[in-house]
Amino acid sequence: MNEGDVASLVGGAMLPGCGEPVVIEDATTGMVATRYADGGEAAAEAALCAAEEGGRAWRALSASRRGAVLTQAARRIAAAGEDLAALESRTAGKPIRDARAEVAKVAEMFAFYAGFADKLFGDVVPVATSHLNIVTREPLDTVVQLTPWNAPIFTAGWQLAPALGAGCAAILKPSELTPQSSIALVRLLHEAGVPDGAVNVVAGLGPTSGQRLVSDERVGKVVFIGSVGTGRRVAAAAAMAGRPALLELGGKSANIVFADADLRRAARAAQGAIFAAAGQSCTAGARLLVERSVYERMVEWVSAGTARLKVGRPDDPATEVGPINNRRQFESVLQTIEAGTADGARLVTGGRTDDRDLARGFFVRPTVFADVTPEMMIARKEIFGPVLCVTPFDTEDEAVALANEGAFDLAGAVWTRDVFRAHRMARAIRAGTVWVNGYRSLSVMSPFGGMRGSGFGRSSGIDVLREYTQAKSVWIETDETAVAPFGYDVP
Ligand code: NAD
Repeated sequence: MNEGDVASLVGGAMLPGCGEPVVIEDATTGMVATRYADGGEAAAEAALCAAEEGGRAWRALSASRRGAVLTQAARRIAAAGEDLAALESRTAGKPIRDARAEVAKVAEMFAFYAGFADKLFGDVVPVATSHLNIVTREPLDTVVQLTPWNAPIFTAGWQLAPALGAGCAAILKPSELTPQSSIALVRLLHEAGVPDGAVNVVAGLGPTSGQRLVSDERVGKVVFIGSVGTGRRVAAAAAMAGRPALLELGGKSANIVFADADLRRAARAAQGAIFAAAGQSCTAGARLLVERSVYERMVEWVSAGTARLKVGRPDDPATEVGPINNRRQFESVLQTIEAGTADGARLVTGGRTDDRDLARGFFVRPTVFADVTPEMMIARKEIFGPVLCVTPFDTEDEAVALANEGAFDLAGAVWTRDVFRAHRMARAIRAGTVWVNGYRSLSVMSPFGGMRGSGFGRSSGIDVLREYTQAKSVWIETDETAVAPFGYDVP
């Protein structure tokens, strides 16, 4: 795909926008890379109509046939992996090695939910009466899915695969800053046999096409992945239309290291936890909490490793940390780093890049702040950039209290060799995902989602199939002599 050709993909056809111009800058140079017209409310309305018809065609196929189509989709995504990864890397500024790994995961998602398409069995409930009570799971007709700019193709696959596997029609509205890989993905789904209209992409702005989609009564559910403020507005708009929402919001996850841990492994993993995706990851291990007796050693090891990370162009296979996706976010990260220094945190390494080759783009050197206290702004805000905050603690209770502070509860990790402490901590950390002696493992097979400020609902595993279906209870009388609870015999 030529990334300049951005338009909505509705009912199997490209639908150019006619709203205000949307300008996307190249994260490596800061130059204008793409311009297109906002799809606006018109594209949203067209997609809602197409999804009604496409959804009927999708559900008219047998469940096994839908599974076969999604298996074919998984194969096509895997076969196109290199092209998709290159597109994602160019348009989202993601290092090519990360983009390859994420595209491979998208193929896995389709393979996984392809297998479930004909295994959404119902139940027979042993009710106390003479009825046969059958419970079936019915797909929601049309679901709307809004995705962010930090992992465009990954979040698109993460939502589309289970929705289609459950038998829903989907309307995907990717971030206006990164629509290209979502359009390419949906083209492949059509080539694999997903009917026109059963899956659509609306290329447009949040307040225009996004707002129109989430406020419509034809929608069975709104699934939102993005920032807290927008998520709450989206859920409110869906509620006004009487529709439920699933929210996957931000995080400020704690990575907790006890003195008895394998400190070298923990120090290495702490870098990957925050600096992968240049910190633009909802599960980023943004807060490193370290037991005081090993605190200075960990600060030194983590900072030394961080200073050696290769910051560079996304298309360089050696690049470990790429640019920030967009100018607004870039400026926000730099301002936050200044605020951290002003608040008295110890800047050990990092800051704005001094590499002249990268100076025009949105590059930030991986940054480590030590001696961060919980009330500092950098300890509380989701920076969504390559900034690690390190804080010491003295007791297990203090570590738990620090981990559970703040507005987010998405993920967390604990490093210890004490198996009892590992279990205690896994129970005590309030988060949708907890890792022990590791960080960042995710699988489509396991449920993922946040608690409290990080959102609600689950986006993977078997749990997500419940999100995209609803139970129907059918009561069949099996005793023809049974007496109706009310009513008189006809004479
Ligand atoms: P965002 O909230 O700005 O936008 C998300 C999506 O919502 C975009 O498609 C946007 O166009 C759309 N949108 C914006 N305003 C809208 C409106 N009024 N009505 C309908 N749609 C609207 O988020 P972002 O800046 O693109 O992404 C970064 C955020 O995403 C971070 O907070 C990050 O933590 C979060 N995120 C969460 C997860 C997760 O699974 N929990 C995963 C990735 C990113």
